[in-house]
Amino acid sequence: MTNYDKRECDYCGKEYMPARISQRFCCTVCYRKFNYEKRKNNKRKIQDEKICEICGKKYIPLKHNQKTCSVECREILQKQTQQKHSKKPKLKKHNFITIEEVIHFQVKHKQATGEQLSYTECCKQLGAL
Ligand SMILES: [Zn+2]
Ligand SMILES: [Zn+2]
Repeated sequence: MTNYDKRECDYCGKEYMPARISQRFCCTVCYRKFNYEKRKNNKRKIQDEKICEICGKKYIPLKHNQKTCSVECREILQKQTQQKHSKKPKLKKHNFITIEEVIHFQVKHKQATGEQLSYTECCKQLGAL
């Protein structure tokens, strides 16, 4: 009793003679491909709804890496990330130094070069000015 009616494969649409009543595919290749695509589609469905990183609204992304619900929100996000990543030239902080350090530097410098530096010049060299 293996004579079932001819039927079409659920995956490729080819006609075949099923061996079992519950058979839906002409071959195991079609069966595997069908299941693989079903899984892929299911995965996509889970990712359907996302929450916008800017306004917190739920949306359905069109692209896999979409992060915002709309162009407006995307622009805001872009600006935010740009600000985060843009390296603002840091204001050079003046080093805090003591008079002793300046004098020490002055003496050292004189010993090394024989040149007498002024106090301000020492401060400059030490990065305090
Ligand atoms: Zn098939
Ligand atoms: Zn949004």
